[in-house]
Amino acid sequence: MYEIKTTNLLRQVMRDYFQGFAGKKVAWCTSVGPAELLRSFGFEVYFPENHGALLGATRTAMDYIPAATKCGYSGHVCSYTTSDIGAFLSNETPLKKQYGLEGVPRPDLIVYNTNQCREVEDWFHFYAREFNCPIAGIHPPRHLHELSRDEIDLVVKQFKKIIPACEQASGVRFDLDRFREVLKLSKEATLLWQQVLKTAKASPPPLSFFDGVIHMGPIVVLRGTQVAKDYYEQLLAEMEANVAEGKGILKNEHCRIFWDGMPIWGKIRPLSDLFLQNNTSVVASTYCNSWIFDDFDEREPFESSALAYTQIFINRSEQAKMDFFKKWIDEYRVDGVIFHDSKTCFNNSNSRFGMNLQLKQQLGIPTLVVEGDLCDLRFYSEGQTITKIETFIEQIESRMMAGEGLLLRGGQ
Ligand code: SF4
Repeated sequence: MYEIKTTNLLRQVMRDYFQGFAGKKVAWCTSVGPAELLRSFGFEVYFPENHGALLGATRTAMDYIPAATKCGYSGHVCSYTTSDIGAFLSNETPLKKQYGLEGVPRPDLIVYNTNQCREVEDWFHFYAREFNCPIAGIHPPRHLHELSRDEIDLVVKQFKKIIPACEQASGVRFDLDRFREVLKLSKEATLLWQQVLKTAKASPPPLSFFDGVIHMGPIVVLRGTQVAKDYYEQLLAEMEANVAEGKGILKNEHCRIFWDGMPIWGKIRPLSDLFLQNNTSVVASTYCNSWIFDDFDEREPFESSALAYTQIFINRSEQAKMDFFKKWIDEYRVDGVIFHDSKTCFNNSNSRFGMNLQLKQQLGIPTLVVEGDLCDLRFYSEGQTITKIETFIEQIESRMMAGEGLLLRGGQ
C-alpha cells in the first residue's frame, strides 16, 4: 500500500511545536497573518484556525459549537470560530489528549489580518477580552483585481503600526535584520511547499489534496523557522523520488480533479478513499495553494510581506480568481472541478456567486458543487455527497471516452 513516509516526521514536528510554548512569549495570529514579523520578536506563534481544523478533524467541533451559540454566536458563522470559542468556554481541547497540554497556550499578544475575512476580527477580539490581552490588526483593502503601489503602501503602514505592540508584549526591540532572516526562511519553506504541490502534476501524483491538507501543517504554523524548511526539503525529496519511480496514490489514474474551498475536516479519510476507489486523484486545490507566498523578498521585508499577504487568492476579485483557476486547471491537467460550498464560510465558497458556471461556460470543464462545512457536519450529507461525486466522475469518464477529455487536455 502506498504511504508517505515523511508523515512520521510530520507527527514529531507538530508534537514539538505544540509542546514548545511552555515558558515562552506567545503571539496568536491568523493563518495568513504576519507570522514572520511576530517571530522576529522571538514569539512562539499559535494559530486558532489550526486549532479549529483540529476540532474538525477530530470530529469534536459539534460538541463545542452549542457553548458558543449560547454565548450569542450564530450557528451559521464560521465553525472554526464557534467550535474554537465553544471549546475554550468548555475548557476543552484535543491538545490535552494528543500532546499532554493543559489547554491552549495563553497569549501575550493577539494579531489578526482581515485579508481572509472579517470573522477573524470578531473571533480574536473575543480572546482579547477573555485574556485581557493586547490586540492589533491589519485591515488591508479587500477583493482586489490587482494591487497598486498605494494599496501596498497602506498595508506597509499597518504592518509597521503593530511594531510597538510587539515590542511591548515581547520586551524585545524591533530588529530589521532579524525580520529579514525570518522572512528569508519563510520564503524558502513556502517555495519548497510549492514544489511539493507541483509534484502532483505527475500521473499518478505522489500526493493528493487530502494528503496536502495534512502535510501543510508546518507551512501554516511554523513558517519562518528552520524546522519548516527542513521538513519540506525532506517531503519534497520523497515526493520527487516517488515520481521518478512512477509511484503514487493510484496505480491506474482515470480522472484528475481540482478541489475548491475548505476541506471537510471530519471527512478527510472517507473522501480520500472514495476518490481512490473511483481511480480518481484530487490533484490540486485553492486551499493548499493558499500558503504559497512566493513574493516574499528579504531585501524589502515590509513591502513584500504586504504584497504577498494582500494578494492571496481569497482576497481577490472574481476575475482574478478566474485567472488563477484557468492557470491551475491547465497546469495540473484537470478533468473536473469540485466546489465545496461550505455552509459557514462563504468567504471560501466560490460557487456562491456562480464561479462554477462561469468556469464551465468559459473552459467547457465539468464542475460540481458539494454542500458541506469545514467543521460542522450537521451541514453535510454523506450519502448525497457520495452519490454526487461518483456520478460526476462517471460523467467525466464518459466524456473522456467520447474524446472530449482528450480535446480538453490538448490531446495528451
Ligand atoms: S476564511 Fe472562512 S473558515 Fe477561515 S476564518 Fe474566515 S470564515 Fe472562518
